[in-house]
Amino acid sequence: MNHIRSLHSPTQTAARLPALSLLIPVYNEVDVLPLCYEQLSTVLQSLDLSYEIVFVDDGSTDGSSTALAALAFSQPGVKVVRLSRNFGKEAAMSAGLGHCTGAATIILDADLQDPPALIPEMVRAWRAGADVVTMRRRSRAGDPWHKRLSAHLYYRLLNHLSDVPIPEDTGDFRLLSARAVQALQQLPERSRYMKGIFAWIGFPTTQILYERQPRAAGKTKWNYRGLIGLAIEGITSFSIKPLRWASGLGLAVAGAGLAYGLFIAAKTLLYGESVQGYPSLVAIIAFLGGVQLVTMGLLGEYVGKTYMETKQRPVYLIRDVLHGQAVSIQTEQRQAPMQEYQHGLH
Ligand code: UDP
Ligand code: MG
Repeated sequence: MNHIRSLHSPTQTAARLPALSLLIPVYNEVDVLPLCYEQLSTVLQSLDLSYEIVFVDDGSTDGSSTALAALAFSQPGVKVVRLSRNFGKEAAMSAGLGHCTGAATIILDADLQDPPALIPEMVRAWRAGADVVTMRRRSRAGDPWHKRLSAHLYYRLLNHLSDVPIPEDTGDFRLLSARAVQALQQLPERSRYMKGIFAWIGFPTTQILYERQPRAAGKTKWNYRGLIGLAIEGITSFSIKPLRWASGLGLAVAGAGLAYGLFIAAKTLLYGESVQGYPSLVAIIAFLGGVQLVTMGLLGEYVGKTYMETKQRPVYLIRDVLHGQAVSIQTEQRQAPMQEYQHGLH
């Protein structure tokens, strides 16, 4: 059972497996797909490596699905994994990783914001011994100041909370060796915060700086609400420190309340002053109520997470997988990445 492949050699032990897999999550990208495929295949052909391009159609509703099917049938080396509905980019990437058979896998966005021209440099870094090649944005010059500031503060907070360092300005654009991909698939959790998961697996990592390009066509799928949701998801799936903070806050507020009570008692005993202060009472009650609600909300966030995890639902469902001239219709239901990993060994 030779499932551990030779890792830094572009030639695989099983000859039919490609050296390089490209993984591209696609959600309503019909405007950019032809350009994307053209640029990718130009770069790949110049590389002199065997390759496959794995597109994951994340439940597109704009014709991307048909365009991808046409590519799969007409172009060699194109595989299309179509999901049963839109599950989000994180789930789409997990779905695609299970179908990438290369000795290395590169994850790119369909909109060409991650320049395909950098693929040769990433492959060089991998051949030089890195299991993971992360791509860090050189600047966020194109972003408005409030986005830059909030991104910076968010990374500071995330790194303060997380046990493993999460590199700043580093997205999903990266190269992963086969063993890094296998490691990712062993993480069975349903909440798939990829930034955290990528950081957690470790492995020798090389970082390359790059300029992120503007979107080639179409428009972004993210909005502030989605980003805030992802930010909270990131923090709560990677750390329980906020719960400890809540306990700390509770202790501090209780301590302050006790001290204030003692102060009032002493004042009454020493000076005989009667207790006054209806407004202060109201303020204190409102404050304590607020603190309790916030901490309960926080607790609820974790309880909810536990609930979702215990349901053991699959991260995504695959509608079908198209490649070459053949179609293999699968009613594949993934219980967990781990199982697919085990399945892959037989
Ligand atoms: N994407 C996806 N599922 C989604 C949203 C986005 O697969 O639910 C894909 C999208 O097609 C693109 C990549 O994820 O290839 C990044 O999306 P987008 O460009 O909208 O995000 P941004 O670059 O603005 O952060
Ligand atoms: Mg984009």
